[in-house]
Amino acid sequence: MAALELDGISRHFGDTTAVSDISLSTEANEFLVLLGPSGCGKTTLLRMIAGLLEPSAGRILVDGDDVTTRPPRDRDLAMVFQNYALYPHLTVEKNLGFGLGVRHMPKKSIGRRVSEVADLLDLGPLLRRRPKELSGGQRQRVALGRAMVREPRAFLMDEPLSNLDAKLRASTRTELISLHRRLDTTFVYVTHDQIDAMTMATRVAVLNAGRVEQYGTPVEIYDEPATAFVAGFMGSPPMNLIPAELCSDDGQLAVRAPGVDLVLPMIGDESEKRAVLLGIRPEHLVPVSANHPGPTLRGRVDIVENLGSEEVADCLLGETRISVRGPRPIGLTSGQSTTLAVDPERIHLFSAQSGRRLTWQSESVPALAL
Ligand code: ATP
Repeated sequence: MAALELDGISRHFGDTTAVSDISLSTEANEFLVLLGPSGCGKTTLLRMIAGLLEPSAGRILVDGDDVTTRPPRDRDLAMVFQNYALYPHLTVEKNLGFGLGVRHMPKKSIGRRVSEVADLLDLGPLLRRRPKELSGGQRQRVALGRAMVREPRAFLMDEPLSNLDAKLRASTRTELISLHRRLDTTFVYVTHDQIDAMTMATRVAVLNAGRVEQYGTPVEIYDEPATAFVAGFMGSPPMNLIPAELCSDDGQLAVRAPGVDLVLPMIGDESEKRAVLLGIRPEHLVPVSANHPGPTLRGRVDIVENLGSEEVADCLLGETRISVRGPRPIGLTSGQSTTLAVDPERIHLFSAQSGRRLTWQSESVPALAL
């Protein structure tokens, strides 16, 4: 049985469609990340799951129970907000126990549960402090702890790391992964940060304009993006998308653009030239000598950025700007012409019209020995 099932969920605000006909389901205890740019409908979807907002259409099931019309308190889900929503005048201990008190749990049981959770989250030494005496990361842990004391069926989190600096963000991610493993509960996590999704999720739903562009594991989404939108959203820098033409010479597929003339390792009949987006990840482009015998792209280096262990070079192929990423030194200098090797097995093609990934039937035979 699916732990969480969304069945045709939509939500309109007047003329605005924030969420449009979303259906997806998770297995037990997954870490589901709802990922997408600002305004794509992530928070609206999470608020509907929490019961804070009613769907305009569709059903929400938790462990097979239809909770669509139930108030939040009867859904047995716990929401962790971006701004932590802690009570400023209460100590950490009181903040942690507050929800249980409201539910009339006996004081002794509250104390036991609070100290279990405080142990789990390393909050013991902070129990007497008030929120203003805590760092951002500590407040974050208290907010999580407050959700955990209730042992909900799922945790719902809206950008919980967005107020943390880069270092704390990285360590809190690790904590969340380990917490998810220990608690064995479903997590639903909203973010616009693709690194959050890649590092923590067991499954990611990439949203765009209220719809799901792709639903899959982080590896599926990174390695086989279903659309140019997903390809351009994942990765740092994201996948290069080069406007190009797909054509066939005697059944052999080739893709051409300024600086690009690649024969593809598959056959097909493209009697009409087709406008495509050629997708290549920055780390799959390797600077080589101009007389390199294999498939290459040719361009000019604009800027080289030093990231410490790696460098990212911005290059121009005709008018298209692309990124090349590799260990430092990458061997490229601003202003020079460059030849970049690419493994044709690593390229992706998307329809320029629909943005959808182009694939070939299994009978397509790899036709090129590299
Ligand atoms: P962000 O990352 O910026 O928080 P989001 O992906 O969470 O964005 P939502 O907050 O779900 O996006 O908003 C989706 C769309 O619905 C946006 O166009 C937003 O302006 C609109 N919207 C959200 N809430 C309301 C509301 N109460 N009234 C009118 N429009 C709304």
